[in-house]
Amino acid sequence: MTAALSIRNLTKTYGDKFEALKGISLEVQPGDFFALLGPNGAGKSTTIGIICSLVRKTGGVVEVFGINTDTHFSEAKMNIGVVPQEFNFSMFEKVLDIVTQQGGYYGLPVRVARERAEKYLRKLGLWEKRSTPARMLSGGMKRRLMIARALVHEPKLLILDEPTAGVDIELRRSMWDFLQEINAAGTTIILTTHYLEEAESLCRNVAIIDQGDIIKNTSIRELLKELNKEVFIFDCSGDLTATPSVAGYHTRLLDERSFEVEIEKGQSLNRLFEALTAQGLDIVSMRNKANRLEELFMAMVADNQKRGDKGVAQ
Ligand code: ADP
Repeated sequence: MTAALSIRNLTKTYGDKFEALKGISLEVQPGDFFALLGPNGAGKSTTIGIICSLVRKTGGVVEVFGINTDTHFSEAKMNIGVVPQEFNFSMFEKVLDIVTQQGGYYGLPVRVARERAEKYLRKLGLWEKRSTPARMLSGGMKRRLMIARALVHEPKLLILDEPTAGVDIELRRSMWDFLQEINAAGTTIILTTHYLEEAESLCRNVAIIDQGDIIKNTSIRELLKELNKEVFIFDCSGDLTATPSVAGYHTRLLDERSFEVEIEKGQSLNRLFEALTAQGLDIVSMRNKANRLEELFMAMVADNQKRGDKGVAQ
């Protein structure tokens, strides 16, 4: 089967010598929901920019559904919809015009472009705003406008660069639902994120990029298996006089009413709660300290260094 996206030995050097991409290779299969995950500055936007021909690569090959983006740029372009991080529509134009005009750039007859614009603006909850100039939309609405515009030519591959950055939680959920819906209907989706939670909720497969190298390329399920410990924060109803101590668990006091506990895979939560209850602690809330991605990176980078093969995708 032809891959939806195939990248081979992709390199990018900014200026004379800054290597933002050090020769990455990657395949994304049709129908996949794929995460390109990595910390800030890892090279995610550069990769996306190259796939969409917004950034000039230094070396390597990019194919979209088997179409080379260098030699058959126009054909490749028809298969790709992109939602960059920066809002890049005219702030003075009206919402409906922005999406309809985009259809024109992709060669759609005006009537079709208009129908599609309505379809996607409705799906994204923007139809009521169709006559509003873009500058008057909220940040979340502008993001959704970017998505509607990227879909007007109904590309087989949709690429989103940090789609939920700066989007509030409620809206993030509805955006996730929408993306899942179009993925289920057959659109291959690639998104970049630095939130493990986002990748975990949406994606099936993942590549982790760090300092211009792919350090992991696997399924989300396999990746999460590698997380062998999680840190939880507990809040108590009363003041803590000392760090709660429970044999076999690593605990740390955070402030007078909260402490954290490191829990390894397979460790019993019941036993932990029993011990805390026995100490007279009244736990009123428990939350995951959302640092799992950092833990994962640290573990992976350390692992790579140990084996001395940094840069080789697993
Ligand atoms: P990410 O999207 O993962 O945050 P980027 O692809 O934006 O990372 O950036 C990767 C690296 O390349 C960073 O160190 C960034 O500073 C650098 N970089 C990005 N764009 C440019 C540019 N136009 N000129 C010089 N350096 C750049």
